[in-house]
Amino acid sequence: MTPAIRKALDKLGLVRDIDLVLHLPLRYEDETKVVPIAQARDGQTVLIEAQVQSCEIQLQPRRQLVVTVQDASGSCQLRFLHFYPSQQKAMAVGTRLRAHGEMRGGFWGRQMVHPQLRKADAPLPTALTPVYPIGKGLTQPYLRRMIVAALQRITLVETLPQECWTHVGPPPVAVPDGAGTQRWWTLAQALRFLHHPPPDVPLQTLEDRSHPAWQRLKVEELLAQQLSQWRIRQIRQAHAAPALAVRQRGRKEEAGELPLHAQLLEVIGFELTAAQRRVVEEIAADMARSVPMHRLLQGDVGSGKTVVAALAACICMDAGYQCALMAPTEILAEQHFQKLQAWLAPLLQARGKRVAWLAGKQKKKERAQMLADVASGEAMLVVGTHAVIQDSVDFRALGLVIIDEQHRFGVEQRLSLRNRQRDRAAQATGDDALEPHMLMMSATPIPRTLAMTYYADLSVSTIDELPPGRTPVVTRLVADSRRDELIARLARQVRQGRQAYWVCPLIEESEVLDLSNATATFEELQAAIPDVPMGLLHSRMPVAEKQAVMAGFASGALGVLVATTVIEVGVDVPNASLMVIEHAERFGLSQLHQLRGRVGRGSAASACVLLYATGDSGKLSDTAKDRLRAMVETNDGFEIARRDLEIRGPGEFMGVHQSGASLLRFADLGTDAHLLEWTRALAPWMLAHRPDLAELHMQRWLGGKWDYLKA
Ligand code: ADP
Ligand code: MG
Repeated sequence: MTPAIRKALDKLGLVRDIDLVLHLPLRYEDETKVVPIAQARDGQTVLIEAQVQSCEIQLQPRRQLVVTVQDASGSCQLRFLHFYPSQQKAMAVGTRLRAHGEMRGGFWGRQMVHPQLRKADAPLPTALTPVYPIGKGLTQPYLRRMIVAALQRITLVETLPQECWTHVGPPPVAVPDGAGTQRWWTLAQALRFLHHPPPDVPLQTLEDRSHPAWQRLKVEELLAQQLSQWRIRQIRQAHAAPALAVRQRGRKEEAGELPLHAQLLEVIGFELTAAQRRVVEEIAADMARSVPMHRLLQGDVGSGKTVVAALAACICMDAGYQCALMAPTEILAEQHFQKLQAWLAPLLQARGKRVAWLAGKQKKKERAQMLADVASGEAMLVVGTHAVIQDSVDFRALGLVIIDEQHRFGVEQRLSLRNRQRDRAAQATGDDALEPHMLMMSATPIPRTLAMTYYADLSVSTIDELPPGRTPVVTRLVADSRRDELIARLARQVRQGRQAYWVCPLIEESEVLDLSNATATFEELQAAIPDVPMGLLHSRMPVAEKQAVMAGFASGALGVLVATTVIEVGVDVPNASLMVIEHAERFGLSQLHQLRGRVGRGSAASACVLLYATGDSGKLSDTAKDRLRAMVETNDGFEIARRDLEIRGPGEFMGVHQSGASLLRFADLGTDAHLLEWTRALAPWMLAHRPDLAELHMQRWLGGKWDYLKA
């Protein structure tokens, strides 16, 4: 094997024999029978066998080799625009040959352009010919040979003998038409079949992957994923965390009679919704156990996750442990800090404790003081960005980590974060360090199928109710051509005391462009309505300036806030009731929903305008319109997440830049939910009763990646 070929194979991930046998055909060609030339339909790809009548180079309209061949039924031409003298020789007049290609043209001018040539009279293959995805540097025949060889070499131990599934019931595989197909395939049978199916197989069942062989393969893949998630969960449960039981009374030496969590309920100024009370109970029950909690708190935008997080933090602090709250952006962390500080600082102060703030751009001295307070335990609650808290903070006794907007993090990131926290704890306190509990919050509800796959190692709490008194946000689609009209209406509303967000287009590749865009819009709006005080917020501004603008908007001094997507998550200004999103067609649905969730938080009727650019055609593409229409049709975050997943697929939906390996290659969560359910029932049984097969299975599917997840 040449280094170039090695490289091409590596690029396709074809290293081990198992990789090769799992590299499945894109489609198939039928070379199992010879079709008489006269019977080949226009556009049909066929194998013909015929004798060369003439072979000549034509120069008009361009140089090409034109070969006329004839069989008993008729004749046609074979055309080659690129050819070697050797090919010309091989097609000398009188030679019999086979040609495989697409028949084109009517009765008089039938031809095949660049057919593949085969020797005549050789035995015909008995199976369909696979056509594989190949990259540069590989040819079909070469890869075919490699895969055939790998199929011969490999021993595929069956990791799913019937013994494994009798207790969960038979596998729910689809049965295509025709008798004799209803049986359970071994993996080896399924793979051999898919590489070389017999010519009579209904091709449709291979294309739509409903054939039992395909289903068998998908079950394998889904099972590997379920097994690994269960294993991760088991490994985690073998670790110890501090048991943080809910304290009913304050500590004797503390000022308040009541524990923090009860005091917090007195100062927030509203009653918890039933859903909030339920999720707090779920979280508290987890934290009371000495097994690390790993829970996702999901709730639509505005459902009130912050106060739930604060209550969890209080339960943790009541038990004498510190709590860290991390957010993905500085502005969001800042908002959390403001809110928690207002609620908790007085209560903590009475106990001689405090809330600490840690961010990237902070004065050295201030930061050093914060770090010292965290290390001494004086700072009981630490709020900051992920990056800062993960990298540089030593806690005296960390009991709970709260992560906001976790859907941005893949499984790997979550694991590595947890491991780092644990290592740090181990360094600080000796060998048998306790691991903190983890609570992750997300406003993007995870659709059920995704929750069962990529997030199967998480427990989930859902706030499925909004606080009372909210008015639903009315959403409208408006073409950018009506921009002036929109600005005039906006001005009228703001002059009446309402506040508005104006979100600028997202330009993925370039922060600089993002900025110039936001600045231009800001200037445009200011020029159009000079009497309305306005603020501009973008990611490149110094933190102090950002804070000043946010404060101005929160206090009502600014009527309009022009912003890049920095306000995408978490910003909470109840008086803001208007939202304009420019170039809405460039955003994902979940993102739009998050943005829209910034309004409708107070009692005023709120509106969200999705401005879309129609481009040169003057029209928005149908899919873009469908997407945006979903926003108009529903305010339900679950429904939107479901559609978003449908449109974008799991990788993009989760916002993870996938290596490819961690996403499903064969199964499709849209069509294969029943297979997923089945493997989900199967996985724990296998781990408990056939750990040997389970391990083999994971090794086969996840390889080195599995070792990493275990570590
Ligand atoms: P999100 O879930 O999007 O993070 P927040 O926690 O920011 O939502 O809450 C949105 C707003 O609703 C905040 O102003 C918060 O104080 C308020 N809120 C939360 N829970 C309740 C409740 N039970 N009753 C009334 N208002 C509430
Ligand atoms: Mg929030």
